[in-house]
Amino acid sequence: MTQAIKTQTQTQSSTAYFQALKCKECGAEYELKASNVCELCFGPLEVKYDYNALRLTVTRETIQAGPNSIWRYRPFLPVATDNVIDVGTGMTPLVRSHRLARRLGLNKLYIKNDAVNMPTLSFKDRVVSVALSRARELGFTTVSCASTGNLANSTAALAAHAGLDCCVFIPADLEAGKIIGSLIYSPTLMAVKGNYDQVNRLCSEVANTYGWGFVNINLRPYYSEGSKTLGFEVAEQLGWELPDHVVAPLASGSLFTKIYKGFQEFIEVGLVENKSVRFSGAQAEGCSPIAQAFKEGRDFIKPVKPNTIAKSLAIGNPADGIYAVELAQKTGGNIESVNDAEIIDGIKLLAETEGIFTETAGGTTVAVLKKLVEAGKIDPDETTVIYITGNGLKTQEAIQGYVGEPLTIDAKLDSFERALERSRTLDRLEWQQVLV
Ligand SMILES: *Cc1c(COP(=O)(O)O)cnc(C)c1O
Repeated sequence: MTQAIKTQTQTQSSTAYFQALKCKECGAEYELKASNVCELCFGPLEVKYDYNALRLTVTRETIQAGPNSIWRYRPFLPVATDNVIDVGTGMTPLVRSHRLARRLGLNKLYIKNDAVNMPTLSFKDRVVSVALSRARELGFTTVSCASTGNLANSTAALAAHAGLDCCVFIPADLEAGKIIGSLIYSPTLMAVKGNYDQVNRLCSEVANTYGWGFVNINLRPYYSEGSKTLGFEVAEQLGWELPDHVVAPLASGSLFTKIYKGFQEFIEVGLVENKSVRFSGAQAEGCSPIAQAFKEGRDFIKPVKPNTIAKSLAIGNPADGIYAVELAQKTGGNIESVNDAEIIDGIKLLAETEGIFTETAGGTTVAVLKKLVEAGKIDPDETTVIYITGNGLKTQEAIQGYVGEPLTIDAKLDSFERALERSRTLDRLEWQQVLV
């Protein structure tokens, strides 16, 4: 507690509203240091805020007067000053879907498009912006992470921007776009021969001995708060209203539970009206420990060995899995899984109907949306928001061979005309059924 008071008086230009780290299980409170596990019960630690103070100072107007980035919500984020890493992360488009909605028979579908988030085209830029801003405040000079790909990209890029040393860990078998997407920022990149869960175990050992700031290990309580901005922005972009139903992908389950925390905080401080929102989660069949626990009504996760093209979601032993199950249960949502072929179809469906090229995680989300609609688990008149969390240019391997081919021609008009005629004939054959 003394530490919390210190943060408030240290800063002249800004006030901090975060008070302590609090155990999600037993409620024990800790100083605001780099730590993610309760010393008493080993439960995960979460950031605690002074909601009374927030209610008195934060209004829709003060938020709208802030920067056009996640930092317009700074009072709800665990950093003590305005000296944050702000490269324009967040405030990505919330797109009203017409063509995908019509295809699925939905009337009020929205797409939160983090495929175009800054700077590295995934939602991870949100969590890393917060984690590295806090890491600097805590005095770290080297930052690190255990990643399924996007997190390494974001940590490397934002560390470069902030002038921090960076060493990131990934499974060795990631897509080329994810590997180059880290290497370009010149971090030390450790490609571990093993899956994410093995990478994560190794990183926990390194974190204990090297004194580095691991964004998703010892800085995890701060990092995970960044995902709340996916809730805040949707509420603000819907005109300060909450949706009826959200569908989001699940790897560790953190993002899913933090969208909920964001909605609850806005209700708590009076920025939006109270409303119950259904939470539905999406996993790939080849790594679906959370979906399996949900379906079997279990209150524990059985770890699995991942085998799916959705590598960004391939966490076999998800840290927040059980909280994700509880959230779907208590809000009347669902957690579904889809196979690799359905994921590819999901990527193509979103591209062809909305002009958004998402990676495998987004394909998973779209495919699960479709499955839930077909099972009658989404009401056509509900305001439904799907979260598209990453960009398809990073996972091109996944759709190679499923997207047709260019028509190679000579630089001559007659060559073009012959090719055009051929393609129209092919189109006619393909669409004959539809056109008749
Ligand atoms: C990491 C990641 C997720 C899931 O994040 P969790 O918070 O671990 O559940 C979803 N989509 C993409 C593209 C990701 O990179």
